[in-house]
Amino acid sequence: MAALYLGLMLACASVCAFATWSIVLDLSQQRLSSVARGVLSHFAAMDREARRSLDTFNRQPDAFCSDAELEKLREEVFRTRYVKDVGRLRGDKLVCSGVLQRLATPRDIVRPDLETPGGLSVYASEPLLLARNSRAPILQAGEANAVLDPDALADEVLLGADYVAGYVGKDGRFLRLFGRSVPLEPGAILAGKAVDRGGTVFQPACDVEQSLCVTAALEKATIRETNLPLLAAGAILGGLLGLIVALLVDVARRRTRTLPARLKRALGDGRLDVLYQPVVALPERRVVGCEALVRWLDDTGQFVPPSVFIPVAEARGWVSDITELVLRRAVVDLAPLLSEQPGFHVNVNISVRDLRNGAFFSIVDDVCAEAGLPPSSVAFEVTEHATADRDATVSGLRLLRDRGHRIYLDDFGTGYSSLSYLGDLPVDAIKIDRGFTETFDHDSSKSAVLVQILELARQLDLDIVAEGVETERQVQWFQDRGVTRAQGWLFGRPMSGETFVSIVSSARDV
Ligand code: C2E
Ligand code: MG
Ligand code: MG
Repeated sequence: MAALYLGLMLACASVCAFATWSIVLDLSQQRLSSVARGVLSHFAAMDREARRSLDTFNRQPDAFCSDAELEKLREEVFRTRYVKDVGRLRGDKLVCSGVLQRLATPRDIVRPDLETPGGLSVYASEPLLLARNSRAPILQAGEANAVLDPDALADEVLLGADYVAGYVGKDGRFLRLFGRSVPLEPGAILAGKAVDRGGTVFQPACDVEQSLCVTAALEKATIRETNLPLLAAGAILGGLLGLIVALLVDVARRRTRTLPARLKRALGDGRLDVLYQPVVALPERRVVGCEALVRWLDDTGQFVPPSVFIPVAEARGWVSDITELVLRRAVVDLAPLLSEQPGFHVNVNISVRDLRNGAFFSIVDDVCAEAGLPPSSVAFEVTEHATADRDATVSGLRLLRDRGHRIYLDDFGTGYSSLSYLGDLPVDAIKIDRGFTETFDHDSSKSAVLVQILELARQLDLDIVAEGVETERQVQWFQDRGVTRAQGWLFGRPMSGETFVSIVSSARDV
């Protein structure tokens, strides 16, 4: 049982932890995607501004590096947000710029790191003249170049993920201008799809027209660390869920193992047996009938006595099913005796519930008719305490008697009001309870009551059957008091139909 609890808790905890991790990863990917798009739009704004500056000076009507143009270059540098300087080039030399003004010695221009399909030359990180020991990205088109602010995207770090921003060249290479380098090949960057590699999630985003690409990156370890409380909550929730599931499974299992559940299954599968105990005529001890007694070996092979499961069946309203099963089984098992020996009868125990169930009477009729038996072959025993519900019992018993079945009042003497209303009950015989048979010879008060019962029965013209007869002394006692029917271990224990039929048949043949 502990294994069930532990197993389900662990299983649910891992499933929930995994589900939470998937959700966290998905959310992180969405966040990464919005970081990538944010950086890209920032980068694109910078690119647009620089291109506009380059375009403006390439089309400038003023003379190259004239005072008028220098004035405009200064103004441009002042006006722009990302462009730190705009220079004018001629013959591979920087001649003047907004910040440096006219250079005493024009500076040589080196080959660019990359050329975009749109004709932009890109320098990733050039040493600057305007601020020694400083480097910055430079874009160049025609006879103009623009120095970009190297810290333009520094604030993007605040978005909580690493990023890289740069240009894609006409040769397909990716050139990083901003951020940390990322181990992704240009093809993967241009594809724009999330990539999970080496414990890091990468999310590229590109502006293909302007050859701009950005990739945001987040290490899974960081994702795990920042979402640790959430992941722990997921696992704990899973554990609790597992506990609830285990409890439910446990309750369901216990329920199916309860006696009513097992009995219901046995009844549904017809897994009840019927044994037969002989009833003999005294003094010759000839078998004149038998009592059908139900037996239940449950699915664990354990014998459950009828005194335990019959009350359960009565309380649950299943006793009529047991009565029907016993009745049908008895008629089949005892067919040779019942049809060949006139006056031979089988007694079937019934409950008051049967008498209140209208279908019961037609079942009895059908069973007898199908077997071709007269109603006198099947008698019914009803227990005395069950006659507490008198009206229903009396009318039900009358219906059975009217059909020709004999009625035995079972376990007589154990109830409380037996003697007072015995005369009103439509019965043919009484069965003296085993308790009396056991004790009458050493309990004088009991034997006095028993004598009274026998006298009353005789006055009412009722037959008497002594139950639970185990000794010759008991036989003698009953015989001396005119009792002519007896049942008990002395004459035979409850046995299978086959055994019973063969014993009775061989005794008859002798
Ligand atoms: P009952 O109808 O009075 O059945 C007689 C009981 O006494 C049976 O117990 C029988 O095995 C036992 N018995 C017979 N002779 C002797 C004997 O010499 N000594 C001792 N010590 N016991 C003896 P069982 O089969 O355990 O049945 C107990 C009760 O369960 C029955 O009492 C009856 O009330 C009920 N029952 C049994 N079968 C059915 C059934 O098919 N339907 C219904 N509704 N109740 C049943
Ligand atoms: Mg009985
Ligand atoms: Mg009895």
